[in-house]
Amino acid sequence: MAYEDVVPVSLSAKFQGSFAYFTVRDRMSTILTKIIDTIHRNKNKFFEEHGEEGVEAEKRAISLLSKLRNELQTDKPVLVLSDDQQDTEEWNQYMVRQQAVLDGNEVPSWFKSPWLYVECYMYRKVQESLNLNPPICNFDVFEEAKNKSFFESQLAIIAICTYQQSVLNKIEDLSEEHILEQFLKLLQVTLWGNKCDLSISAGKAISQQCSPIDSLEVLKPYILVDDSRSVWSVLINSSSAGSPPRVDIVLDNAGFELVTDLILADFLLSSRLASTIHFHGKYMPWFVSDTTKKDFEWTIKQVLRSNHKYMSKCGAQWKKYCKDGTWTFDDHKYWTLPHEFCDMSQVAPDLYNDLQKSSLILFKGDLNYRKLTGDRKWDYTVPFQRALRGFQPAPLCSLRTLKADVQVGLKPGQGENLSAADSNWMTNGKYAVIQFSSPCKQ
Ligand SMILES: [Mg+2]
Repeated sequence: MAYEDVVPVSLSAKFQGSFAYFTVRDRMSTILTKIIDTIHRNKNKFFEEHGEEGVEAEKRAISLLSKLRNELQTDKPVLVLSDDQQDTEEWNQYMVRQQAVLDGNEVPSWFKSPWLYVECYMYRKVQESLNLNPPICNFDVFEEAKNKSFFESQLAIIAICTYQQSVLNKIEDLSEEHILEQFLKLLQVTLWGNKCDLSISAGKAISQQCSPIDSLEVLKPYILVDDSRSVWSVLINSSSAGSPPRVDIVLDNAGFELVTDLILADFLLSSRLASTIHFHGKYMPWFVSDTTKKDFEWTIKQVLRSNHKYMSKCGAQWKKYCKDGTWTFDDHKYWTLPHEFCDMSQVAPDLYNDLQKSSLILFKGDLNYRKLTGDRKWDYTVPFQRALRGFQPAPLCSLRTLKADVQVGLKPGQGENLSAADSNWMTNGKYAVIQFSSPCKQ
């Protein structure tokens, strides 16, 4: 086998002492406990909405979730799903595949299987516990936390909306150089917006409280790979070649991060660097703070309803974009399956073909990065494009703060120097990458 064909093993809790091990052992069970508490706290709401049936559903869901937590903590085998949803069969087939790669009598389990698989599986099982109890199946266990994180970031949201309006007011007079300068700033704002992630804090509130523009210079040294000029080139080349391009944004978290994504999307349109923006989100509550369609619509509504003049001005524009189809939101089920993205062309050819129509795909956040690289034990210096293993529907860029121990595309010695200076550099969210790959860049 040629060296290029060797694919490293998946990160897994089976490597004791690894970040995956601590995540499965500590953080995931803490999240399950919080979910159980949240459902219990909403007992009265379920009663008001569905009477006794709602209370019974709450009890049954909690009992399923307690069982799940116990199975996780004691490394029991993962079990088939039984809720008969559009993705149930695919999940069960994926489990069979996981079984096939294990030796003899071993079965996929929480601490032995790939971390990416079991972490996704946990969120899918949470949804199953609700799906099996129809009166409360549409309850989003993370909604409260997501909305709270939005409100706690109010000052930062006002600051960024005010900044945005000051840029948009003069946008017709800006030279290409100035547009580039603003583009780089807003790309960094959306990058650092990714710090606000409720999954990494196990649901504890994280919000942005100061002006995001003011902190950019201080944060710059923490960007380990910065391919933003390549991203700019794609946009400017496609715009000057004809009509401005379609840009896709594969979202991560709701709350402050989503606002920064919408700000960037608005800027790309106003500066004619893009003609349409296709947003991609999750069709079920996912990794605590990930954006669902409901979160997307709720956020725009909140921004629009704000008493602050510039904030509501942004909201009005965003509502218009949604209404006239300049912005679309798609929640393909593939984003909540456990696959690495290199499987997408086979598993979800419809989504892959759709992404091929894009001129630039921005992937936000850590989970997308883990799926782009397969969540594997790559050497730090392996080129990003190699770690993608053929996943390249269009030019793409990952905007990610580091919260998992997978990182590729670094310079020789860079990873070792970081490890010496800060042993938690891969997981503490202090560092970030703007990492680009294009089909023609070999
Ligand atoms: Mg997330």
